[in-house]
Amino acid sequence: MAQGKKCPDCAEIVNADARKCRYCGYRWSGFDDPWRVGAVALIGLFALLATWSSTW
Ligand SMILES: [Zn+2]
Repeated sequence: MAQGKKCPDCAEIVNADARKCRYCGYRWSGFDDPWRVGAVALIGLFALLATWSSTW
């Protein structure tokens, strides 16, 4: 059996590399990408630090 992941919308097993479900059209967003989440958090932290240090 080929590797697959379960679609949260229709519960069908689709290809693990697929970004879109071929049964219902559900799209996996890149939100679960840890690098992206980390980068956004880091930028937010720097922005907070920049505004914080400017008040000194
Ligand atoms: Zn689906």
